[in-house]
Amino acid sequence: MKYIDTHVHLYDEAYDGDFDETLQRIKEAGVGCCIFPAIDMENYERQTGIARKCGSFVREAIGVHPTSVGANWRMELDFVEARLAERNADGAAENRYVAVGEIGVDGYWSKEFINEQKEVFREQLVLAHKYGLPVIVHVRDAVEEVFEVLDSLQEMDIKGVFHAFSGSYETYCRLKKYGDIKIGIGGVVTYKNAGVAKVIERVPLEDIVLETDAPWLTPVPYRGKRNESSYLQIIAEKVAQVKGCSVDTVAEATTRNAIELFNLNSLM
Ligand SMILES: [Zn+2]
Repeated sequence: MKYIDTHVHLYDEAYDGDFDETLQRIKEAGVGCCIFPAIDMENYERQTGIARKCGSFVREAIGVHPTSVGANWRMELDFVEARLAERNADGAAENRYVAVGEIGVDGYWSKEFINEQKEVFREQLVLAHKYGLPVIVHVRDAVEEVFEVLDSLQEMDIKGVFHAFSGSYETYCRLKKYGDIKIGIGGVVTYKNAGVAKVIERVPLEDIVLETDAPWLTPVPYRGKRNESSYLQIIAEKVAQVKGCSVDTVAEATTRNAIELFNLNSLM
């Protein structure tokens, strides 16, 4: 196994027409494992159905995405807690969730439920801690809100990844103070003028995991088309170029990081 896609929505309808061929391509590209972040109750059946179909190649997370936080947020949260209780308390090891996610705060799409988003984020961080799981965090236009929540849990060590990281080097350094934090790097790093390429010049490889966030955020030269996990190779090449090392070094380090972060050793 060369790569792990730490963030991919392969259960999205975008793959309905050619799922088997896509999965085949992904495996042939050296990807040995895909992690499915959850979105909400509405998407859960599809996610779990596709994950089951893929066997041990796919590992699942469970959580409420910040953009899915609305008037029924308490019900969404209860759903996450119930799934964790049934699968991580007494489920078979291979069925267990490897993370709580994706969770976080998103001030870009709407600020209507921003306070509820913060509460749902906070409660899911507590849940992850209770079950000894890392978190997959989504932040968009809400860095200060995220720090407010992290500050409210200061006695709690956080373990997780800030996916599709687009913050500054200073934000990365600030995050590191809260625990074992990695940043997820995907297709955006290949975009012209992407600030994140500059940022990862200074971030050690030990703190980077690779992701596609497919079907979105497709790397150059496929930008504008549907994304897929086989493009991890392109992302790794760009990271290698920025870091001035070989692609193999990037692949080995980021895969090792992902195995350690999501505790995949015991499952593989
Ligand atoms: Zn995502």
